[in-house]
Amino acid sequence: MKTLKYFFKKAKKEEWAIGQFNFSTLEQLKAIVNVAEKLKSPVILGTSQGEANFFGLEEAVLLRNLYRKKFPYIYLNLDHGKDVNLIKKAINLGYDCVHFDGSSLNFQENLKITKKIVKYAHKKGCLVEGEIKSIQGSSEIHKGLPKDVLLEDIERAKEFVKKTEIDSLAINIGNVHGVYKKSIRLNIEHLKKIKREIPIFLVLHGGSGTSKKDIKEAIKNGVVKINVNTELRKAWREGLEKSLKKHEDTIKPYNILPEVILKVEETVEKKIKLFKSQR
Ligand SMILES: [Zn+2]
Repeated sequence: MKTLKYFFKKAKKEEWAIGQFNFSTLEQLKAIVNVAEKLKSPVILGTSQGEANFFGLEEAVLLRNLYRKKFPYIYLNLDHGKDVNLIKKAINLGYDCVHFDGSSLNFQENLKITKKIVKYAHKKGCLVEGEIKSIQGSSEIHKGLPKDVLLEDIERAKEFVKKTEIDSLAINIGNVHGVYKKSIRLNIEHLKKIKREIPIFLVLHGGSGTSKKDIKEAIKNGVVKINVNTELRKAWREGLEKSLKKHEDTIKPYNILPEVILKVEETVEKKIKLFKSQR
């Protein structure tokens, strides 16, 4: 069984990235897995705390295991975990990776807790993603433009990475969560500096509203994992609204929901091709 770490290393060497696609419904999950299988692309299934609590951690693990029989390279990540108990539960159930988001804590406190989680996770073969500076925005459609653009403090990040021994870092290079009026531009020069100084796997959050050109540049410059959520939520909702209108005369979920899956599939396929993760 090829591990997630195997693919991170391979992606770094060959300059492509693995998509993390978040889900909270079975239609979204089916769509992600269908496209992964079709394009032979490793994928990470992401569940934020809200998504995990709604869908169920156990359900997510069981379905990952089931779908691995169709296509083996499907991994699970707990996205933006803030509750240490939930993170431990995910690790114990067999998540492949957990993201501890201690960005709301002060630097030392974040460092201390992250280090503890890394020790706990590594014993169980689970990877840990860390975050220092909070990535702005939320996974929604926003009317205006993002307020703040943050850049990673490289010296702090170096210290954090060295002391915590995290596997990957969620970086700030102008990226934000969500979709905005204009597509978001990244600071590729800053990414180049991060890549030179920080030897671990680099993760880009905000894969939804970011300029395609900049995503390609980010991959060329060391990003190996890109998180996508807002566009999948948008596809799910638009697909559902359209299908409900079209099938006004039925209450059969199995007649209404296939079109929702198709709509989410289209989005996942576009992203996988942009990230060049198809094998
Ligand atoms: Zn994020």
